Amino acid sequence: MLAECGKTKVLCTVSVQDQVPPWMYNRHAGGWLTAEYAMLPGAGQPRKPRDGRTGRPLDGRSFEIQRLIGRALRCAVDLAALPEVTLWVDCDVLEADGGTRTTSINGALVAIYDALLWMEEQKQLPKWPLRGLVSAVSVGIVGGVPMLDLDYEEDSTAEVDLSVVCAADGRLIEVQGAAEKRPFAMEQFQTMLGLAQGACARIVELQQQALGI
Ligand code: UDP
Repeated sequence: MLAECGKTKVLCTVSVQDQVPPWMYNRHAGGWLTAEYAMLPGAGQPRKPRDGRTGRPLDGRSFEIQRLIGRALRCAVDLAALPEVTLWVDCDVLEADGGTRTTSINGALVAIYDALLWMEEQKQLPKWPLRGLVSAVSVGIVGGVPMLDLDYEEDSTAEVDLSVVCAADGRLIEVQGAAEKRPFAMEQFQTMLGLAQGACARIVELQQQALGI
């Protein structure tokens, strides 16, 4: 699944591995879902060295983003309803212009749906495990104005930068972010959350369109 948001492009794939992580062995607690995220070297400016090529196994930003993606998707899937498999979600950024983590979540959800359909066809699913769609968007304050889906230029000058993950009914899954320059008011926070919830609802419609559901 190629997810695009503005100039940002992320290839999202899901692989089903017939094994759960060691800490789940013999627990009969269903399956697991985990995510990996990486930016291709030429996805942004300047060139970003490939993970593992700089002496450090993974840069901190990639690690933080892949944990966010994993948490968001584990909210979408009832893991106890899966057989003993691990769903590996891979998000590889082909082009980065802000919002790569939110675009990853939006695309990964569609890829998960596809993978679950495949598992259903293979008669691997005792019951449909998807609780609902999940979508994400960035929102911030740029030049004093609340703004959705920040591109790189907006992101790098934003006074506040949040990533908001929502369930399809608008309830919040995760809000990640901070004031980049000075503190912001609760009222501004609520304005940003309201904008993000509206955008997430629109993204869910696009996911439904992509899936034909
Ligand atoms: N970026 C980049 N190289 C990096 C890190 C970030 O080019 O190593 C750019 C890229 O456009 C990215 C943006 O900075 O989308 C904002 O990065 P951030 O860490 O806020 O994550 P994102 O908004 O992509 O989720």
